[in-house]
Amino acid sequence: MTPRRAIDDRLLLGYAAGLLPQAHDLLVAAAVSLDDDARARLEAFEAVGGALVEAQPVAPLRCGSFEEVMARIEGTAPADTVPERVRVPRVDPVLPGPLRDAVGGDLRDVRWSPIGLGARQSVLPTWDGGGTARLMWIPAGRAMPEHSHAGTELTLGLLGAFRDGDRVFRRGDLSMSGPDVTHAPAATDEGPCVCLAVTDAPLKLSGLLPRIARRLVGF
Ligand code: ZN
Repeated sequence: MTPRRAIDDRLLLGYAAGLLPQAHDLLVAAAVSLDDDARARLEAFEAVGGALVEAQPVAPLRCGSFEEVMARIEGTAPADTVPERVRVPRVDPVLPGPLRDAVGGDLRDVRWSPIGLGARQSVLPTWDGGGTARLMWIPAGRAMPEHSHAGTELTLGLLGAFRDGDRVFRRGDLSMSGPDVTHAPAATDEGPCVCLAVTDAPLKLSGLLPRIARRLVGF
């Protein structure tokens, strides 16, 4: 799967229909708050989607892979309830509004846990078991442990920039990595990088520090 920068329509449609796990809902809400074009596309989907959801209620996906979510979005799903939505505000200091709500403040209020090599993470609260959302802090010029994925990883840049392969992602850019990717995203030299990483399955570490990182990070 090729990394990409802009949030794609399937995620926006899934958000509009209330089909995404909470971790993905959070990422979409944060990404849309940083991208006027994505906001416009989402509003168009919501205008149409409201009627569709009324006509055929759908349920949130409680578990399963990102691809399963996308398959459900492209099809139809019988169900009984529409989930509580993550709001999409227009204000965006360092952390977009949905992330500030999850953290209970801005970047200085995040409760970080060290994961080695100066990197830090903070797992954001979700309660549906459908994915994991983490804020990541990577010092300038440092890399995350090399890893691949059992599922899909979506990473939204929030502060600074990170390099993944030969591409650089900045605030508002979205990287999508599938199970065929082994990588070690790294902050660029210009400063520390903060990003939101959402995964739908445990990572598979393959670098020099897998055991340590697995113990510290809970990958
Ligand atoms: Zn990854």
